[in-house]
Amino acid sequence: MTTPAEALKQILDRVAPLPPGRQPLRDVLGLAVAEDLRSRAQVPSFTNSAMDGYAVRAEDLTSASREHPTHLRVLGDLAAGDVHPGAVGPGEALRIMTGAPLPDGTDTIVPVEDTTRGEDWVEIRKPFPRGIHIRLAGEDLEIDQLLVKAGQGLRPGDIGALAAAGFADLPVHPRIRVAVLTTGDELVDVSEEPGPGRIRDANLHAVCAQVAACGAMPVPYPRVADDRATLRRVLQEALEADVVLTTGGISVGDYDFMKDILEKLGAVRIFWKVAQKPGGPLGFWMLGTKPIFGIPGNPVAAMLMVEEYVRPALRKMMGFRKLHRPLAEASLEDGWTGKAGDPRTTFLRVVARREGGGLQARLTGPQGSALLSSMLLANALALIPEGVDRVAPGGPVQLHLTEEAEDH
Ligand code: AMP
Ligand code: MG
Repeated sequence: MTTPAEALKQILDRVAPLPPGRQPLRDVLGLAVAEDLRSRAQVPSFTNSAMDGYAVRAEDLTSASREHPTHLRVLGDLAAGDVHPGAVGPGEALRIMTGAPLPDGTDTIVPVEDTTRGEDWVEIRKPFPRGIHIRLAGEDLEIDQLLVKAGQGLRPGDIGALAAAGFADLPVHPRIRVAVLTTGDELVDVSEEPGPGRIRDANLHAVCAQVAACGAMPVPYPRVADDRATLRRVLQEALEADVVLTTGGISVGDYDFMKDILEKLGAVRIFWKVAQKPGGPLGFWMLGTKPIFGIPGNPVAAMLMVEEYVRPALRKMMGFRKLHRPLAEASLEDGWTGKAGDPRTTFLRVVARREGGGLQARLTGPQGSALLSSMLLANALALIPEGVDRVAPGGPVQLHLTEEAEDH
């Protein structure tokens, strides 16, 4: 059996980023940029007002006070998007809106709250420091400033900055298409009432959601029947996608023919079975450059396998530089007892919380591989390495922080 670390390495050694292309800004959320991007423009491109108020010359207000207010003659209004044609002279002001370019001759903005408006004048009762409430050209972004680095995933804030800096489209790695097949004659659609012996197809939704959460595009092939001909036909169709994930039919049951069919289709088995619990039967094949993951049917095992093995692979194919969730040390409040001499790594679903400078982890409840209830509260996985059969209450465990963005 392959260890979890070996399995991950075997997978990551074989997948590569898909070639990048240019995509319009509206389509790039969650994608990885293919090269370092530097600002093409100065932002803001002109010096402008940071407040609604009056553009003035600070020196006109040096003697303004509550008892002896200064009155300035207001030449007119300047809205954002407009430019004042002339200059503002001594004793004059221009009413100005946030974002309007600072008129020639002025150097300071007096916020409207600090003024009293007259017919064609404004009253100001205190001096203002020269340059206040002004946004200088280039104070936000300079030309050539590094905005995002190759391999970085694009977040809404990055997209905003790139838009301001003049990018209409970007070189990004594409959103990969991931076929998700669920198999099993016992499965019914979630909208159906399962008859005797039948269950709802939870994996389709859980796994498609995990794929989407990676920024990839799930292509669902729901509830493929447990017969060779159907499975073969659907698999062939699914191989149009960039990656194929199947759930169920990967173990040693009488209807578990996934391995057999994949290999008859020419897929090369890299490994089958990882020494871990829950999980066990995770198969990984390559058909040419296309990775195929055979994931166990038990829903918790399936989700865990996607989290630990498929997600890093999808991220690598999508060009992300960081592939792995943050690791952390925690103390396991409940402690844990496993089987003596178990050669497998155990993954426990836990709720981790910060406390007194450290992390405390608590089991989410019973940990069976079919118990989706154990996923509900989980925000981390605790790893118990092979050979460890007991963690004392409060003893140390390593966590994968599965709700946090990849950091390495
Ligand atoms: P299998 O790996 O096909 O032997 O399935 C193992 C267990 O997982 C069985 O109890 C199946 O009924 C269950 N299972 C398989 N596929 C799904 C699915 N899509 N949704 C929920 N449970 C499933
Ligand atoms: Mg099955």
